[in-house]
Amino acid sequence: MLLPGSARDPLVVVRSGFWNFNGIGLFDGDEALVVDPGIFPEDIALLGTAVATRGNPDRPRTIEHVILTHSHHDHIRGWQHFPGARVTTPQPVADKNATSRERIVAAKTAIDETLGTPDPDFVYPSAETVPRLHTFEQQTSLRVGELEVELHLLLGHSNCCSVVWIPAHQTLLTGDYLVSPGIPYCRWQAKEFEEALVWLRQFTTDRDVQRVIPANNAILKSNAEIKSALELEIDYFAHLRATCQDLHATGLSKDKAIRQAADTIIPFRESRGKTTTRAARRQDRDNAGRILKEIAGDPV
Ligand SMILES: [Zn+2]
Repeated sequence: MLLPGSARDPLVVVRSGFWNFNGIGLFDGDEALVVDPGIFPEDIALLGTAVATRGNPDRPRTIEHVILTHSHHDHIRGWQHFPGARVTTPQPVADKNATSRERIVAAKTAIDETLGTPDPDFVYPSAETVPRLHTFEQQTSLRVGELEVELHLLLGHSNCCSVVWIPAHQTLLTGDYLVSPGIPYCRWQAKEFEEALVWLRQFTTDRDVQRVIPANNAILKSNAEIKSALELEIDYFAHLRATCQDLHATGLSKDKAIRQAADTIIPFRESRGKTTTRAARRQDRDNAGRILKEIAGDPV
């Protein structure tokens, strides 16, 4: 557990052994919510118990809300563990077509087989399957006890993703943004991802964000740390995009351009004290491929 939840800081974060995934919960008064609840059933159960009973063991709270930040298979797991809860998610999550839903569920099933945690009753969360579904276009808010919680659509990592802001605790839950600062995790369009980073930087300043809890890995614990992580990612994209533009102009084949562009980002990252792992190199190539597609005007 990264955050156990207390009266002063009622956030609970359960770290999974898989992908360092962070299942997140929040409680106030008689109510609680969970956000992208977790990977293993026992993680999800632990999160549910913690938000329901922390500091209040005799009168468990109602888990009133489940928030699903976006539709990637690791984020939509576990919504059925909280029967009766209202499920809040961006409209594009509910709007995924049958093919996309099948692909997402198939990816989840493949992971379940690897982990040995079969989940045959799982269904994709949609208007047909969720009894209390609440979707939003750009922004919505909800309450947990006396606490206000805002959700903002923020496309870029995917074409359906959002972030969750808890003003009273100056805490932003960023989903798959800032999961590994310095290795931007783009799974959709680079341009929108870059715009999302700029939006996050502005939001961090305007709202005085003091803590970011991403869906994986470490919590960022100060305004300065958050801003420096965002600057790193903004600079990374500026650097990678400029290199891709130069390489594209030389007429180099796409495969070669991707490899060369990805190679040029390594010294950039290492000059900022970030090591280069195999996963980082894979993501660099993926990001370069997405930028080159945009430059060439290819469909994403
Ligand atoms: Zn994702």
